[in-house]
Amino acid sequence: MVKAEAVHKHFGPVQVLKGIDLEVRSGEVFCIVGPSGSGKSTFLRCINHLEKINAGRLYVDGTLVGYREKNGKLHELRDREVAEQRRGIGMVFQRFNLFPHMTAVENVMEAPVQVKGVSKKEARERAEQLLDRVGLGDKKANYPAQLSGGQQQRVAIARALAMDPKLMLFDEPTSALDPELVGEVLDVMRDLARDGMTMVVVTHEMGFAREVGDSLVFMDDGVVVESGNPRDVLGNPQHERTKSFLSKVL
Ligand code: ATP
Ligand code: MG
Repeated sequence: MVKAEAVHKHFGPVQVLKGIDLEVRSGEVFCIVGPSGSGKSTFLRCINHLEKINAGRLYVDGTLVGYREKNGKLHELRDREVAEQRRGIGMVFQRFNLFPHMTAVENVMEAPVQVKGVSKKEARERAEQLLDRVGLGDKKANYPAQLSGGQQQRVAIARALAMDPKLMLFDEPTSALDPELVGEVLDVMRDLARDGMTMVVVTHEMGFAREVGDSLVFMDDGVVVESGNPRDVLGNPQHERTKSFLSKVL
Protein backbone atom coordinates (compact mmCIF):
# COMPACT_ATOMS: atom_id res chain seq x y z
CA MET A 1 0.00 0.00 0.00
CA VAL A 2 2.92 2.32 0.78
CA LYS A 3 6.36 1.85 -0.66
CA ALA A 4 9.30 4.11 0.11
CA GLU A 5 12.53 3.78 -1.83
CA ALA A 6 15.51 5.81 -0.68
CA VAL A 7 13.28 8.70 0.37
CA HIS A 8 15.26 11.84 1.15
CA LYS A 9 14.01 15.11 2.54
CA HIS A 10 15.88 18.17 3.66
CA PHE A 11 14.81 21.55 4.97
CA GLY A 12 17.49 23.91 3.73
CA PRO A 13 20.77 22.45 4.91
CA VAL A 14 19.11 20.12 7.43
CA GLN A 15 18.84 16.54 6.18
CA VAL A 16 15.77 15.12 7.89
CA LEU A 17 15.15 11.92 5.92
CA LYS A 18 18.34 10.25 4.75
CA GLY A 19 17.12 7.38 2.64
CA ILE A 20 14.01 5.70 4.00
CA ASP A 21 13.15 2.30 2.54
CA LEU A 22 10.07 0.55 3.76
CA GLU A 23 6.93 -1.19 2.62
CA VAL A 24 3.50 -1.13 4.23
CA ARG A 25 1.32 -4.00 3.09
CA SER A 26 -2.41 -3.71 2.55
CA GLY A 27 -4.43 -4.25 5.69
CA GLU A 28 -1.55 -4.00 8.09
CA VAL A 29 -0.89 -1.76 11.07
CA PHE A 30 2.55 -0.31 10.55
CA CYS A 31 4.03 1.46 13.56
CA ILE A 32 6.81 4.02 13.50
CA VAL A 33 8.66 4.78 16.73
CA GLY A 34 11.72 6.85 17.44
CA PRO A 35 13.07 9.82 19.33
CA SER A 36 11.91 13.39 18.91
CA GLY A 37 13.30 14.97 15.76
CA SER A 38 14.07 11.66 14.05
CA GLY A 39 11.81 12.53 11.10
CA LYS A 40 8.68 10.51 11.87
CA SER A 41 6.17 13.30 11.24
CA THR A 42 8.08 14.50 8.21
CA PHE A 43 7.93 11.02 6.69
CA LEU A 44 4.20 10.75 7.40
CA ARG A 45 3.64 14.14 5.77
CA CYS A 46 5.58 13.02 2.70
CA ILE A 47 3.17 10.11 2.26
CA ASN A 48 0.35 12.51 1.43
CA HIS A 49 2.64 15.05 -0.17
CA LEU A 50 2.21 17.70 2.49
CA GLU A 51 5.99 17.69 2.17
CA LYS A 52 7.76 17.15 -1.13
CA ILE A 53 10.54 14.60 -1.11
CA ASN A 54 13.90 15.64 -2.57
CA ALA A 55 15.06 12.26 -3.79
CA GLY A 56 13.87 8.70 -3.95
CA ARG A 57 10.45 7.34 -4.74
CA LEU A 58 7.29 7.11 -2.72
CA TYR A 59 4.27 5.09 -3.87
CA VAL A 60 0.79 4.75 -2.44
CA ASP A 61 -1.25 1.90 -3.82
CA GLY A 62 1.19 1.52 -6.68
CA THR A 63 0.98 5.17 -7.72
CA LEU A 64 3.83 7.64 -7.40
CA VAL A 65 2.99 10.31 -4.81
CA GLY A 66 3.03 13.88 -6.10
CA TYR A 67 4.69 13.11 -9.42
CA ARG A 68 4.15 11.49 -12.75
CA GLU A 69 6.95 9.58 -14.39
CA LYS A 70 7.36 10.07 -18.12
CA ASN A 71 10.30 8.81 -20.15
CA GLY A 72 12.26 8.34 -16.96
CA LYS A 73 11.65 11.92 -15.84
CA LEU A 74 9.53 13.09 -12.93
CA HIS A 75 6.91 15.77 -13.47
CA GLU A 76 5.15 17.37 -10.54
CA LEU A 77 1.42 16.82 -10.39
CA ARG A 78 -0.95 19.78 -10.44
CA ASP A 79 -2.60 20.83 -7.19
CA ARG A 80 -5.85 19.27 -8.33
CA GLU A 81 -4.18 15.94 -8.96
CA VAL A 82 -2.40 16.05 -5.61
CA ALA A 83 -5.73 16.80 -3.91
CA GLU A 84 -7.20 13.81 -5.71
CA GLN A 85 -4.42 11.55 -4.40
CA ARG A 86 -4.81 12.91 -0.89
CA ARG A 87 -8.50 12.10 -0.81
CA GLY A 88 -7.68 8.44 -0.47
CA ILE A 89 -5.56 9.06 2.61
CA GLY A 90 -6.99 9.94 6.00
CA MET A 91 -4.81 11.74 8.49
CA VAL A 92 -5.19 12.15 12.23
CA PHE A 93 -2.84 14.44 14.12
CA GLN A 94 -1.81 14.91 17.71
CA ARG A 95 -4.06 17.96 17.89
CA PHE A 96 -7.59 17.29 16.80
CA ASN A 97 -8.07 20.33 14.53
CA LEU A 98 -11.85 20.11 14.52
CA PHE A 99 -13.80 23.09 13.23
CA PRO A 100 -14.80 24.79 16.50
CA HIS A 101 -17.98 26.34 15.14
CA MET A 102 -19.38 23.03 13.88
CA THR A 103 -20.98 20.20 15.83
CA ALA A 104 -19.48 16.72 15.80
CA VAL A 105 -21.78 15.56 13.03
CA GLU A 106 -21.17 18.72 10.97
CA ASN A 107 -17.41 18.21 11.31
CA VAL A 108 -17.72 14.68 9.95
CA MET A 109 -20.06 15.72 7.10
CA GLU A 110 -17.99 18.65 5.94
CA ALA A 111 -15.48 17.04 3.57
CA PRO A 112 -17.88 14.61 1.86
CA VAL A 113 -20.24 17.52 1.13
CA GLN A 114 -17.61 20.11 0.16
CA VAL A 115 -15.05 17.91 -1.55
CA LYS A 116 -17.01 14.96 -2.88
CA GLY A 117 -20.32 16.70 -3.52
CA VAL A 118 -22.29 14.16 -1.49
CA SER A 119 -25.80 15.37 -0.60
CA LYS A 120 -26.21 16.77 2.90
CA LYS A 121 -28.79 14.15 3.78
CA GLU A 122 -26.58 11.28 2.71
CA ALA A 123 -23.49 12.80 4.37
CA ARG A 124 -25.37 13.29 7.63
CA GLU A 125 -26.57 9.69 7.71
CA ARG A 126 -23.09 8.41 7.09
CA ALA A 127 -21.60 10.80 9.65
CA GLU A 128 -24.06 9.56 12.24
CA GLN A 129 -23.10 5.95 11.51
CA LEU A 130 -19.42 6.83 11.85
CA LEU A 131 -19.99 8.63 15.14
CA ASP A 132 -21.87 5.57 16.39
CA ARG A 133 -18.94 3.46 15.33
CA VAL A 134 -16.45 5.51 17.37
CA GLY A 135 -18.77 5.39 20.36
CA LEU A 136 -20.12 8.94 20.13
CA GLY A 137 -23.71 8.25 19.18
CA ASP A 138 -24.89 10.47 22.01
CA LYS A 139 -22.56 13.41 21.25
CA LYS A 140 -23.48 14.14 17.65
CA ALA A 141 -24.81 17.62 18.35
CA ASN A 142 -21.97 18.65 20.67
CA TYR A 143 -19.47 21.31 19.67
CA PRO A 144 -15.78 20.44 20.06
CA ALA A 145 -15.54 22.62 23.18
CA GLN A 146 -18.24 20.42 24.72
CA LEU A 147 -16.20 17.24 24.16
CA SER A 148 -13.26 15.77 26.03
CA GLY A 149 -9.92 15.43 24.24
CA GLY A 150 -10.51 11.72 23.70
CA GLN A 151 -13.96 12.38 22.28
CA GLN A 152 -12.59 15.12 19.99
CA GLN A 153 -9.94 12.76 18.73
CA ARG A 154 -12.58 10.12 18.01
CA VAL A 155 -14.55 12.73 16.02
CA ALA A 156 -11.33 13.46 14.12
CA ILE A 157 -11.01 9.76 13.27
CA ALA A 158 -14.65 9.60 12.15
CA ARG A 159 -14.05 12.70 10.03
CA ALA A 160 -11.10 11.06 8.29
CA LEU A 161 -13.10 7.87 7.73
CA ALA A 162 -15.93 9.84 6.14
CA MET A 163 -13.81 10.18 3.00
CA ASP A 164 -13.51 6.39 2.69
CA PRO A 165 -9.73 6.36 2.77
CA LYS A 166 -7.76 3.32 1.69
CA LEU A 167 -4.99 4.35 4.05
CA MET A 168 -5.00 6.08 7.44
CA LEU A 169 -2.04 7.98 8.83
CA PHE A 170 -1.88 8.67 12.57
CA ASP A 171 0.70 11.05 14.01
CA GLU A 172 0.88 10.50 17.76
CA PRO A 173 -2.90 10.56 18.03
CA THR A 174 -2.90 10.05 21.79
CA SER A 175 0.06 12.06 22.96
CA ALA A 176 -1.91 15.24 23.65
CA LEU A 177 -4.46 13.36 25.75
CA ASP A 178 -4.76 12.95 29.47
CA PRO A 179 -3.72 9.39 30.35
CA GLU A 180 -7.23 8.26 31.22
CA LEU A 181 -8.47 9.22 27.73
CA VAL A 182 -5.80 7.37 25.76
CA GLY A 183 -7.51 3.99 25.96
CA GLU A 184 -10.75 5.02 24.28
CA VAL A 185 -8.86 6.34 21.24
CA LEU A 186 -6.63 3.27 21.01
CA ASP A 187 -9.77 1.10 21.22
CA VAL A 188 -11.21 2.85 18.16
CA MET A 189 -7.91 2.34 16.32
CA ARG A 190 -7.88 -1.31 17.35
CA ASP A 191 -11.39 -1.72 15.89
CA LEU A 192 -10.30 -0.10 12.66
CA ALA A 193 -7.35 -2.45 12.44
CA ARG A 194 -9.63 -5.41 13.03
CA ASP A 195 -11.78 -4.22 10.13
CA GLY A 196 -8.73 -4.42 7.88
CA MET A 197 -7.84 -0.75 7.50
CA THR A 198 -4.25 -0.11 6.41
CA MET A 199 -2.75 2.15 9.04
CA VAL A 200 0.59 3.87 9.52
CA VAL A 201 0.86 4.91 13.14
CA VAL A 202 3.54 7.09 14.69
CA THR A 203 3.22 6.36 18.37
CA HIS A 204 4.85 6.21 21.76
CA GLU A 205 2.28 3.66 22.89
CA MET A 206 4.48 0.58 22.90
CA GLY A 207 1.70 -1.59 24.32
CA PHE A 208 -0.51 -0.72 21.35
CA ALA A 209 2.36 -1.30 18.92
CA ARG A 210 3.07 -4.70 20.43
CA GLU A 211 -0.55 -5.85 20.54
CA VAL A 212 -2.00 -4.32 17.38
CA GLY A 213 1.02 -3.64 15.17
CA ASP A 214 1.92 -6.03 12.37
CA SER A 215 5.20 -4.29 11.57
CA LEU A 216 7.30 -1.72 13.32
CA VAL A 217 10.24 0.43 12.36
CA PHE A 218 12.53 2.26 14.72
CA MET A 219 13.69 5.54 13.17
CA ASP A 220 16.57 7.63 14.38
CA ASP A 221 18.21 10.63 12.76
CA GLY A 222 16.40 10.20 9.45
CA VAL A 223 17.06 6.52 8.87
CA VAL A 224 15.31 3.26 9.67
CA VAL A 225 17.62 1.66 12.20
CA GLU A 226 15.66 -1.49 12.80
CA SER A 227 12.44 -3.05 11.56
CA GLY A 228 10.39 -6.18 11.92
CA ASN A 229 7.64 -7.70 13.96
CA PRO A 230 6.82 -5.30 16.85
CA ARG A 231 7.17 -8.02 19.46
CA ASP A 232 10.64 -8.88 18.18
CA VAL A 233 11.90 -5.33 17.79
CA LEU A 234 10.50 -4.15 21.12
CA GLY A 235 11.27 -7.36 22.99
CA ASN A 236 14.65 -8.09 21.55
CA PRO A 237 16.18 -5.01 19.91
CA GLN A 238 19.39 -5.66 18.01
CA HIS A 239 20.86 -2.19 17.72
CA GLU A 240 22.37 -0.08 20.45
CA ARG A 241 20.30 2.96 19.43
CA THR A 242 17.06 0.97 19.61
CA LYS A 243 18.00 -0.46 22.99
CA SER A 244 18.87 2.94 24.36
CA PHE A 245 15.61 4.49 23.10
CA LEU A 246 13.46 1.66 24.41
CA SER A 247 15.13 1.70 27.79
CA LYS A 248 13.90 5.29 28.13
CA VAL A 249 10.31 4.78 26.98
CA LEU A 250 9.38 1.28 28.16
P1 ATP B 1 8.58 14.34 17.40
O1 ATP B 1 8.65 12.98 18.05
O2 ATP B 1 9.08 15.41 18.31
O3 ATP B 1 7.24 14.65 16.82
P2 ATP B 1 9.57 13.74 14.71
O4 ATP B 1 10.31 12.46 14.66
O5 ATP B 1 8.15 13.73 14.27
O6 ATP B 1 9.67 14.32 16.20
P3 ATP B 1 9.94 15.75 12.68
O7 ATP B 1 8.84 16.62 13.12
O8 ATP B 1 9.74 14.94 11.46
O9 ATP B 1 10.40 14.79 13.88
O10 ATP B 1 11.21 16.68 12.51
C1 ATP B 1 12.46 16.18 12.10
C2 ATP B 1 13.43 17.32 11.94
O11 ATP B 1 13.00 18.14 10.88
C3 ATP B 1 13.53 18.22 13.15
O12 ATP B 1 14.88 18.54 13.33
C4 ATP B 1 12.72 19.43 12.76
O13 ATP B 1 13.22 20.57 13.39
C5 ATP B 1 12.92 19.48 11.27
N1 ATP B 1 11.78 20.09 10.58
C6 ATP B 1 10.52 19.57 10.50
N2 ATP B 1 9.71 20.35 9.77
C7 ATP B 1 10.46 21.41 9.36
C8 ATP B 1 10.21 22.56 8.56
N3 ATP B 1 8.99 22.79 8.01
N4 ATP B 1 11.23 23.43 8.36
C9 ATP B 1 12.45 23.20 8.89
N5 ATP B 1 12.76 22.12 9.64
C10 ATP B 1 11.79 21.23 9.88
MG1 MG C 1 6.35 14.25 15.16
